[in-house]
Amino acid sequence: PVDRLPEIQEARLRLPILAEEQVIMEAVRENECVVLCGETGSGKTTQVPQFLYEAGYASSAGIIGVTEPRRVAAVSMSHRVATEMNLPSGVVSYQIRYEGNVTEDTKIKFMTDGVLLKEIQKDFLLQKYSVIIIDEAHERSVYTDILIGLLSRIVPLRNKKGLPMKLIIMSATLRVEDFTENKRLFRSPPPVIKVEARQFAVTVHFNKRTPMDNYTGEAFRKICKIHRMLPPGGILVFLTGQAEVHSVCRRLRKAFPYRPNQEHTDSMETEDLKKSKREKKKKNVSLPRINLDSYSALPVDEGDEDRQAGIDEDDDDEGSDLELELGDHPDSDHEEKADPSIPLYVLPLYSLLAPEQQAKVFRPPPAGARLCVVATNVAETSLTIPGVKYVVDCGRVKKRFYDRVTGVSSFKVTWISQASANQRAGRAGRTEPGHCYRLYSSAVFGDFSLFSEAEITRRPVDDLVIQMKDLNIEKVVNFPFPTPPSSEALIAAEQLLISLGALEEPPRRGRLGEMERARLSCPITPLGRAMAAFPVAPRYAKMLALGRQQGCMPYIITIVAAMTVREIFEDYDRPAGSEEESTKMAGKKARSVQMRRLWAGQGQSLQLGDLMVLLGAVGACEFAGCTRQFCEENGLRFKAMLEIRRLRGQLTNAVNAVCSDAGVYVDNKMAPPTESQVVFLRQIVLAGLGDHIARRVQAEELLDPKWRNGYKTPLLDDPVFIHPSSALHKTLPEFVVYQEVMETTKMYMRGVCAVQAE
Ligand code: ADP
Ligand code: MG
Repeated sequence: PVDRLPEIQEARLRLPILAEEQVIMEAVRENECVVLCGETGSGKTTQVPQFLYEAGYASSAGIIGVTEPRRVAAVSMSHRVATEMNLPSGVVSYQIRYEGNVTEDTKIKFMTDGVLLKEIQKDFLLQKYSVIIIDEAHERSVYTDILIGLLSRIVPLRNKKGLPMKLIIMSATLRVEDFTENKRLFRSPPPVIKVEARQFAVTVHFNKRTPMDNYTGEAFRKICKIHRMLPPGGILVFLTGQAEVHSVCRRLRKAFPYRPNQEHTDSMETEDLKKSKREKKKKNVSLPRINLDSYSALPVDEGDEDRQAGIDEDDDDEGSDLELELGDHPDSDHEEKADPSIPLYVLPLYSLLAPEQQAKVFRPPPAGARLCVVATNVAETSLTIPGVKYVVDCGRVKKRFYDRVTGVSSFKVTWISQASANQRAGRAGRTEPGHCYRLYSSAVFGDFSLFSEAEITRRPVDDLVIQMKDLNIEKVVNFPFPTPPSSEALIAAEQLLISLGALEEPPRRGRLGEMERARLSCPITPLGRAMAAFPVAPRYAKMLALGRQQGCMPYIITIVAAMTVREIFEDYDRPAGSEEESTKMAGKKARSVQMRRLWAGQGQSLQLGDLMVLLGAVGACEFAGCTRQFCEENGLRFKAMLEIRRLRGQLTNAVNAVCSDAGVYVDNKMAPPTESQVVFLRQIVLAGLGDHIARRVQAEELLDPKWRNGYKTPLLDDPVFIHPSSALHKTLPEFVVYQEVMETTKMYMRGVCAVQAE
């Protein structure tokens, strides 16, 4: 029996899903798999695990597992359910890539979908679990799709073996045909239960015009208007990325200052006095305690919308609450005059924000202040923010795009789908009728696609293919994907894995079409198995597999960790808000350039290029104890360095586990590699990035000026370049390998390392 607090019980009873408990539990009893659709906020994530618990599904025979595509949701939902059930975190727990609080006593376990995929590799039958809930299936994240495919096989297998198991697929939309109508997944379609949410009317207001560039400015103006003119009620704003979120937060805080710990009735004070008081207050406010464990490297694409730091992002820290006076976004064409009489309680919300900061959105705003949450796409379905009456929707989302053939990627802000737009609007009608302000015209809305594409169709799949091969799924093309990836993507993945030695070469008989080759279903090699054990992309796994030569392993682990975290340097090229800030940033930039030159080393190590800079930076930072201060003084992103630290630890454990005599450990006083080690390091890096080779175009070949200082790659017709911030920008070696090509103003190689011409 669950002993809930009265107020919790009361709140639960108001959730639409409570009325469906009987129906849901009966369907679960009668079927191996059940699909549950219910509007965001109807209570799926928080209540269904509790129904199952109370019906005895968590017993000695197995526990309840819940997967989430986002770490934000895994952590916050486990906390919420523990609170509701009045149980400790050792019983209702979570596990995300690097951390968790799972114990022997855990009965309900929230985890990211990637975590469960790894567990399937260890125990294909998932015998720990009596039921698996796949949450947010409508998001169609790659791992969710794969899990559904796998579980469609695992569940019948378990039941055949007399170890009963249930699967519940939960979706916030009714678009579930990809699961239910897919005969390869489920021979007889699983029942679909719809939870009718009590949704109040949401009046949708379209803009007459659609601002093409300055939609953050438009969002700001709209929020100001709502706040000045409309009755109480929270505002939820959808923007595309972390930098935009912080920029709008800053402008709003400036326009409608909210002062914590202070009543808003002290109107007798003069402005000056108020101001000086405010300054003092600001200094005294104690910084919220940040749980550093919550920063870690992400599963492949999660939080990408937050990850463009160094390209165009202003990666603001959680301390920014105190930096109200700092620069504004340059698009501030007109600023509101600060009006402290109507305070606005402004909170940012995005994937990489610390959970403590995220949790603030669930708490009621301070008395007398209106809540305004400025969010990225995370607020669309994963989290429900109480009290929202107004939604401001920019109509856009930031996504990473890959070229299917060349793998070149870029971040692009694109229009959302109509389904997303309607989800966003729906956030306004949870507690009473609401309004949604769309910052685009109805004609533009009419041109949106109906639904968003499944992620698996949009990105390279080499990491998935190796994991699947490791599960002995040889014919990946025959896997019951809810939506299969393109055959080009599968072929490209298989080819890369063959070239890395992770899959066996297909026999070369006659001339086979590429499609047929892909269908040949090359089995995994022993090297491939070792690689699959490392929680990084196959290229980097290959480097780890080769890292034992000449004591190179600690260096390779560090380089791989740093490359996986990707953006370790602070970006000082972003637009500054004031002259003062601009001067400050110029100083910091000079320092950063100087440090990078230092970290690049001398002699042989210079040839390691950007990878030596990574190695030097991590080495120096760890030597100094990996402090925030060191990072700030030397142009490093503190969060990134903490992620690298965690990943180094994890990779070190993985290496020792795969290879019991490796005996590597994390050395925080790592000496720089010797000259001969550098030679080995370059070879190891080349082995992982062998297909990412580029050759400098020689002067005599220069027919077109666009090729000046350009490099030729096997797959691209156009030149790629070494970025001015690269350690090899001046040297321009004849042959280089690169981590990736990213298109910004030009096609730039990132993570460049020189290789010897053979
Ligand atoms: P769904 O999964 O169907 O979208 P949830 O189970 O996540 O719905 O949420 C149900 C309700 O519980 C929501 O109305 C939300 O406001 C409330 N809720 C969820 N998490 C919290 C929390 N951390 N604090 C307070 N209320 C919460
Ligand atoms: Mg949910």
